[in-house]
Amino acid sequence: MRRTVRVRVHRVGEPKERPDLPARRRARQMPGPEKVTVYIAGTIHTPSSKKTTAAAGIVTESDGGRSAGKCILSVDEQSQYVAEFFAALEATRSVGKETALTIVSAQPYVRDAMNKKLWRWENEGWAGLPHRGILRCVAAELKARKAPTFFKVALPGTLERTMCRQAAGIEKRAARAPTPTAWDLTLPLHTALPGMSLAGNRQKIFYRSIREEKTKKLTPRASTVKKLEVVRTAAYEIFDRRVSDTDIWRSVYTKDFLPRAAQFLLKNLHNAHKIGTYWTHIPECEDLAICQGCEDLENLEHILLEESHWPEVTLGTILGCGLAEFRDDRGKIKPGTQRLYRILMSESAYQIWRLRNERVIERDGEPASDDEIMNKWKFAVNQRLQMDKLLANRPRKGERPALVPLLVLETWSGTLDNERCLPTDWLREPKVLVGSRAFPQTPARRQNSRGIG
Ligand SMILES: [Zn+2]
Repeated sequence: MRRTVRVRVHRVGEPKERPDLPARRRARQMPGPEKVTVYIAGTIHTPSSKKTTAAAGIVTESDGGRSAGKCILSVDEQSQYVAEFFAALEATRSVGKETALTIVSAQPYVRDAMNKKLWRWENEGWAGLPHRGILRCVAAELKARKAPTFFKVALPGTLERTMCRQAAGIEKRAARAPTPTAWDLTLPLHTALPGMSLAGNRQKIFYRSIREEKTKKLTPRASTVKKLEVVRTAAYEIFDRRVSDTDIWRSVYTKDFLPRAAQFLLKNLHNAHKIGTYWTHIPECEDLAICQGCEDLENLEHILLEESHWPEVTLGTILGCGLAEFRDDRGKIKPGTQRLYRILMSESAYQIWRLRNERVIERDGEPASDDEIMNKWKFAVNQRLQMDKLLANRPRKGERPALVPLLVLETWSGTLDNERCLPTDWLREPKVLVGSRAFPQTPARRQNSRGIG
């Protein structure tokens, strides 16, 4: 057998290995059955007005349908993906090392991760991977086994699927437990592959690993934490969504935003714009902290809401516009509406910011006229429409277009000029513009039906 030895570089914070059982206790252990099938399920449980809890459940087939369910600590992110791994861990630990194990699940997460991605993760030293604690633990437990382990995805309508549903039932009951279970995430002896491989890794991965070590020591900025809380409250009040910090950060990177608007939102979440209190501590620059229009302290809320007369929204709604969810009567997500909302909110906020900069830097405090503001906004919105049309038309690599054509049609339909005269698929029509009906008549005073002025 050819064996390649790869040089690995050390990383800080490797997981602990647990000592092996003493030989005498090992000898006393009863030999288990030859083969066992375990059905696993991991789901999230969201009772109304309470925090989401995730739990793992297993049903073992061999010894009279033994079952177990455990709740998952809230520090581990509460998602079905993670819960499924906890269930797989429980399943692997529930049988002896010499027993052939078949793990059956309704989801392919564990199978795909362990068969397709494990090699890459180990090579990259698990750098930048969320939930690596549990993923690593499952991989190590599987490596410590002496008998084979099989993964199977239960197809709908089969007996296996019914058993998985039974495991999900056990798991749901476990999720209601008042205290979550403390999970032992130590690895069996000699299974951890510490560090990351020097060979075959990209510069990007090494850099990511170094960044990870450096940022670990940093405490979150108080102003960022405050902003995140503002967004979280808005998402709950308006869209009835309970979101984590990760959800908020991810929402800024949604493809619905243009990079310029996304950067603006990101900077805002970090309070990184040089406005208001930024200047109050700098000698001879105190004047810059004051709004030139009304001589109040200038902060983002003042610029976006008070100065621009955008009354029906809050700062949290604007910064969290990527979290917007619109559903139809049957609870299905309306992707077009959601996308239009995100585009309009982000572009509007960015336009207000640009106008403010123009006023302060180029016009010496003189505000733009209503007509000028309106024209700039119309131009920005129509520019997005034209860009969407191009991306949905122009095929990349001779195959699929960069944007799904149906999504573009769903996004803009209902807002276009002379829409009745246009064909249903207007993507290839030369003159398509957002109609003047979609814009408010007098800018900065009246609101359209979406509350965007
Ligand atoms: Zn002002």
